[in-house]
Amino acid sequence: MQLIFMGPPGAGKGTQAQVLAALWKIPHISTGDILRACVVAKTPLGLKAQAYMDAGDLVPDQLLMDIVQERMNQPDASSGWILDGFPRTVPQAAFFDKLLCDVSGAGGTSGKDCALRAVNLDVPDDILVARLLSRGRQDDNEETIRRRLQVYREQTEPLIAFYRAREQLVAVDGDRDMEVVTAELQQALSGDS
Ligand code: AMP
Repeated sequence: MQLIFMGPPGAGKGTQAQVLAALWKIPHISTGDILRACVVAKTPLGLKAQAYMDAGDLVPDQLLMDIVQERMNQPDASSGWILDGFPRTVPQAAFFDKLLCDVSGAGGTSGKDCALRAVNLDVPDDILVARLLSRGRQDDNEETIRRRLQVYREQTEPLIAFYRAREQLVAVDGDRDMEVVTAELQQALSGDS
């Protein structure tokens, strides 16, 4: 199972990714979590990333590509994973495509027959803002939330068309109870391995 979770901030990506990863016993890889850990540890990467994160902007593509490449090479990522928050831009998606091809052999992951699926959780903006305000994370103040939603629409939403064109998109209504969304995801992905 190779799963990408897309969707705007507050759509429930992290929650659903965590539940399904535990169920399927594969790693849940959240680039936001990796970056936050680097910020707390004040690593060189964390120091570079912090200002972008605090402003609600995306961290530069190259830093994310290095993070993901390193994480994908770890042994626990060999038999599947759920990626939460990556790719978030078209260049990241193109890079990731190439990375997966290099790992699995030419063409192995870029067609509709490969194991990769990209889940989009769709939730209306007013619900997202309310959810994010109640979450209380450091980058969850109203101004940053508005900025993150704008960045999502401009830079990440185009990926929905990217994965739909490759017949890898699984679109799910995320504006329902958490358990209902999990059940629908399980059903939609049950044919995959
Ligand atoms: P998240 O926890 O996924 O909402 O990510 C929190 C913040 O980390 C985002 O607002 C970005 O600043 C940064 N971030 C996480 N993943 C990425 C990514 N794939 N590309 C660029 N920035 C990212």
